[in-house]
Amino acid sequence: MTVVTGGAGFLGSHLVDRLLKEGHEVLAVDNLLTGNERNLDHLRGEKRFRFLRHDVTKFIAVEGPVDYVFHFASPASPIDYLELPIQTLKVGSLGTHNALGLAKAKGATFLLASTSECYGDPLVHPQKEDYWGNVNPIGPRGVYDEAKRFAEAMTMAYHRFHKVNTKIVRIFNTYGPRMRLRDGRVVPAFVGQALRGEPMTIFGDGKQTRSFCFVSDLIDGIYRLSQSDFHEPVNIGNPTELTILEFAERIRHLTGSQSKIVKNPLPVDDPKQRKPDITRAREILGWEPKVLLEDGLRETIQWFQNHLDTPVQK
Ligand code: NAD
Ligand code: UDP
Repeated sequence: MTVVTGGAGFLGSHLVDRLLKEGHEVLAVDNLLTGNERNLDHLRGEKRFRFLRHDVTKFIAVEGPVDYVFHFASPASPIDYLELPIQTLKVGSLGTHNALGLAKAKGATFLLASTSECYGDPLVHPQKEDYWGNVNPIGPRGVYDEAKRFAEAMTMAYHRFHKVNTKIVRIFNTYGPRMRLRDGRVVPAFVGQALRGEPMTIFGDGKQTRSFCFVSDLIDGIYRLSQSDFHEPVNIGNPTELTILEFAERIRHLTGSQSKIVKNPLPVDDPKQRKPDITRAREILGWEPKVLLEDGLRETIQWFQNHLDTPVQK
């Protein structure tokens, strides 16, 4: 049995699909705080899959043998974690402790979904895994960043002290089908606005940069990491870096939208630049992203088009 916490979320549900394809029996554990069971609807009737609605900040009881625990439960969009600060801190700390405890009790391999936010507003560019980051612990994003940094520390402690076979992936901005249209992250925000013909809201001057990875590439890197014998953090992301303004223009072009681009205030501590150095993933996992931004965006736009709650405005 393989356990995926956060299995009803965007990434968790794609990971469940991949694990089933690889022959695993999968138990998704999720309290549906930011996820949705609809992401798993297509698995109804699949005998190797089960869903357990449960808050992983409470003891996680699983009967029988467990080979892998993938710990993905956590609010992940800045809007979500600003609205759910305590839950975010609890799932990163207590939830990680419980998920590690489950892995230890069952002798399972453990993989933590960590984040590029561990680097905070980075002073080193691009970000390599040996950079310790520039995080404001008491700012509004601190609830997420520090929870994930604690989760990494806890994971390494279980590895060093209890000899659990652990892995840590630092996930950079990832996009694709099944993101919540209104989760506030930039991809659903811009695509939704462009498809509706509403103004596209750039935060700040739009000169901050991000690097976007398509979900199938990310899941492939994570699966490879789970099969490796490497224990230190590994960045998985796409190093193609764009300013947010360029990104908005790209989406406007691909959707054929007439939306205006407007400027809104920049959120506190919004990182100014972000781009993964993926040398480690290349060397250790033989992994690099394959999907071009334009192709990934087309697939994502198509998916959102089929899931928009209001008609497209011309
Ligand atoms: P998501 O919000 O779609 O999924 C998170 C899932 O965790 C949701 O289904 C939610 O209901 C569940 N959850 C939250 N608290 C829980 C709790 N206490 N008990 C049980 N379930 C709980 O977000 P996502 O984008 O799929 O992110 C998944 C993981 O990947 C998160 O840990 C996130 O920090 C990490 N990550 C994602 C990205 C990205 O770009 N998508 C980047 C960096 C890191
Ligand atoms: N952003 C934006 N408009 C939006 C949503 C986000 O300009 O409607 C910006 C945000 O300020 C950040 C970048 O897009 O600089 C990526 O934001 P996201 O919330 O997707 O994730 P982050 O990388 O900040 O965790």
